[in-house]
Amino acid sequence: MEPQKEARTLQDAVVRPPGASRSPAPEEEERREGSASPASTGEKADSAGADGLWELPVEPAERRPECSRCSRPQKVCLCPFLPSCPLPISTHVYIVQHPAEESKVLRTVPLLAACLPQDKCKVKIGRRFSEERDTELSTVCRKPGTLILYPGAEATNLEDFLLDSPVYPSTLILIDGTWSQAKDIFYKNSLFRLPKQVQLKTSLSSQYVIRMQPANRCLSTLECAAVALSILEKNSGIQETLLRPLQALCSFQLQHGAQIRLSKEHLLRNGLYPKPMPQSKRKLRKMELLMNTVKI
Ligand SMILES: [Zn+2]
Repeated sequence: MEPQKEARTLQDAVVRPPGASRSPAPEEEERREGSASPASTGEKADSAGADGLWELPVEPAERRPECSRCSRPQKVCLCPFLPSCPLPISTHVYIVQHPAEESKVLRTVPLLAACLPQDKCKVKIGRRFSEERDTELSTVCRKPGTLILYPGAEATNLEDFLLDSPVYPSTLILIDGTWSQAKDIFYKNSLFRLPKQVQLKTSLSSQYVIRMQPANRCLSTLECAAVALSILEKNSGIQETLLRPLQALCSFQLQHGAQIRLSKEHLLRNGLYPKPMPQSKRKLRKMELLMNTVKI
């Protein structure tokens, strides 16, 4: 769930997984990655030659037709790797998705949604949720059988929780975003403190190797759902079925030039993570650039 720069054009279609709904939050103006116009970033065309370019009509980028089930471009449809019919689960899954995640090219949530029955998997898009903004989610959070999957000191291991819980969980909430986005969503919405907080104790290393994870054990949203559902539904086959399209996605991307993204933990441990330039050096570099500009 670590941010990666993913190329996308302004006109890319944003396909929401079945059941996706957007929280009517005032943060509607939140900018998606890559959606800021040159003017809104405060940058101006600084050479005279570029001035006229902004007046040229914008040709809409060609939209690649997408598969209605897996939301992948039709040419690289992953449906052959999805179960022929949705998995018959009894747990209701709610995915709280950060708005920036919705526009990413390589997303795992549409694949998860495509594997589950529509009435068992709902995606809620937004950063802030409350009773007024989302009555459904608010009701779900107050139900005794609802769990939220978010690791931390307050969280109980899911398997341990099931041993002691008098109520068998009926609903699972997951947060989809980068690690910092998920943290922001979890801690800034008091609603998400109402369900029982659980975490996964798994030895599974992320197989989502084309997006960098902060640590080897950090899993993508699809992987978290796969592990949690196999525990809740007492069916290990669920994990295998849900991971199949992810493995196919990674394998396809790797065959077509994507690189394996080693976790930040791995890179740090091996001294390979790029160190940020100290503030003083950055200032010096900026001054040097400015002086060069003046000389020219
Ligand atoms: Zn498909």
